[in-house]
Amino acid sequence: MSKIRLLPQSEALKIAAGEVIERPAHVVKELLENALDAQATAISLYINDIGKTLIRIVDNGVGMSIDDARMCFLSHATSKIQTIHDLESIATFGFRGEALASIAAISRVTLMTRQRETPVDAMGHMIEYSECSVLQEAAVACPTGTDILVRDLFFNTPVRKKFLKSDETEWNAIQWLFHAFCMSNVGVHFKLYRDGKLVLNAPPVASAKDRAAQLWDYDASQALLPLLEDVQLPFRISGFISNHNMWRYGRQFMHFFVNKRWVKNSELSKGLLKGYLNVLPPERFPIAMIFIDIDASSIDVNVHPKKEEVKFVRPGVVQAALSNLVKKTLEQNLSQTISPMPQKTFITQPQWQSYQVQAPREIDQSVSALFDFDPFPSQPEAFQAPRVEQQPLLEPTPIHEAFAIMGQLFKTYILFEKDNELVMIDQHAAHERVLYEKYQTKFLDQQGTTLLFPETIRLSKQQVHDVMQQRDFFERQGIDLDGLGDESLVIRSAPPQLRGTSLQEFINDAARFINEHEGMDKTLFGQKLNEHLHAQMACKSAVKAGDVLTLAQMHQLIRDLQQTPNRFICVHGRPTTWSMPRSELEKKFKR
Ligand code: ADP
Ligand code: MG
Repeated sequence: MSKIRLLPQSEALKIAAGEVIERPAHVVKELLENALDAQATAISLYINDIGKTLIRIVDNGVGMSIDDARMCFLSHATSKIQTIHDLESIATFGFRGEALASIAAISRVTLMTRQRETPVDAMGHMIEYSECSVLQEAAVACPTGTDILVRDLFFNTPVRKKFLKSDETEWNAIQWLFHAFCMSNVGVHFKLYRDGKLVLNAPPVASAKDRAAQLWDYDASQALLPLLEDVQLPFRISGFISNHNMWRYGRQFMHFFVNKRWVKNSELSKGLLKGYLNVLPPERFPIAMIFIDIDASSIDVNVHPKKEEVKFVRPGVVQAALSNLVKKTLEQNLSQTISPMPQKTFITQPQWQSYQVQAPREIDQSVSALFDFDPFPSQPEAFQAPRVEQQPLLEPTPIHEAFAIMGQLFKTYILFEKDNELVMIDQHAAHERVLYEKYQTKFLDQQGTTLLFPETIRLSKQQVHDVMQQRDFFERQGIDLDGLGDESLVIRSAPPQLRGTSLQEFINDAARFINEHEGMDKTLFGQKLNEHLHAQMACKSAVKAGDVLTLAQMHQLIRDLQQTPNRFICVHGRPTTWSMPRSELEKKFKR
């Protein structure tokens, strides 16, 4: 007797569904794709209980006829292709005709639909369908378009349910995906509801950059540069990328869309990162929305069960083109932001008076006394460059490494002459490095100062959760905080280094860091968070470009920098010091 048996269709479908639908976000993806394929211009997504009890999508697309509404649940039923050759010119997201069949195999689906051209008083059609059978069918009054409700997902595949991650992780996957659809379809009005509450309302906008402002924080969207374009290419690359000052700690913000399809593609990732080479510090990643429009015959979209990947016929060409455009965009932006030399002559600038000073062997007042606890902007009059002889700090004890400080340039760079070189120091970058190294060695397990007025910080539920998980860690940094309801924290003490800075911004950033490093090895995470918070503290309390420094402060900073490890780059990877040999200058003057 034969051992081989044919599985019943419902069982076969449940098994096949496992390939397409592993988590609620995958249902959302298929339904969003269907709505967009149906040319919807308004799409609302309702999620209850992270999709386990309800996923509903309402669109105003072309709708379906009664016959199509009955057909759409069958496997391999599609209106989008007829033969595999059609994939060479595919313009829709869907093509396999298996999404609705798979979803209905593992949930209970209610479909209401009415075609776009039908008269105002026409009825639509409702079908309830599950596990290969129609449960109910009726004519119903409904608007044009399609409304799909997916209830009790995985009710008959309990193992799949067990593998779901935490609610917040599943919700993030849905939200992340929804955002991606919003980015690539800027003309569509998207709404997202979670457990009955509207959490995102994104009306149509003109560009993906405007979309970013709707989806993320305003700062991140303002750091986006439009990617330069190259009309010579046989395909089009467009989009937005973050400038050199903005980055993330993971790759999640690097979005690639090939013919509007949100995809993962290692060639595109590499191309983007190559463009940022020497621009971003190690282990930092850009924010990017890259759109590739390419002839459908130059890619294969049928390489992944969930259509999350594409293959390029000529991957190297696309990669090189992308990295080239990214590089050029960043270069152009940098050359625009570097301000031209002022027209004033050196002599009329007080900061430019040349001081010939012998650096003291020992200065008892450390850099912290000079900088950390003494925010300049509040008392600018105290920081006019005094003549050196009035500076009690600078005992003119001769030591071997004399250097002559010329002064500050643009209130940003300290200039001095040393060993036949003109040396320029970026005061912020240098001070930041000095403080960072100091915090890393001396400020572990420090005491915070109790705040006169405890500060309340507003965050999302997820962020409060993330920060509270690391409460002990913050405490060791001198930051004493507590939860205050679901969506805020109260801070009772903070280290003096953070005085005068925005604690809200600081905690926001820390929360983002924690979230982006979810799942990292515990020890490594502790170390990274430590580095991150100290870098933040250093950045916040270091002198800024634009701060006027006294000669004593300039001296102290240079000396401290000379004794600091990793002194040539700041914690964000920018150079602290740059020098020009005398010979180079002489070449310029044709001497
Ligand atoms: P595919 O998208 O690969 O064709 P699906 O199972 O997702 O397969 O959908 C089957 C068919 O149902 C589609 O080809 C389309 O004709 C129809 N359909 C599905 N969703 C919608 C919708 N929101 N609006 C109009 N038609 C739809
Ligand atoms: Mg589909």
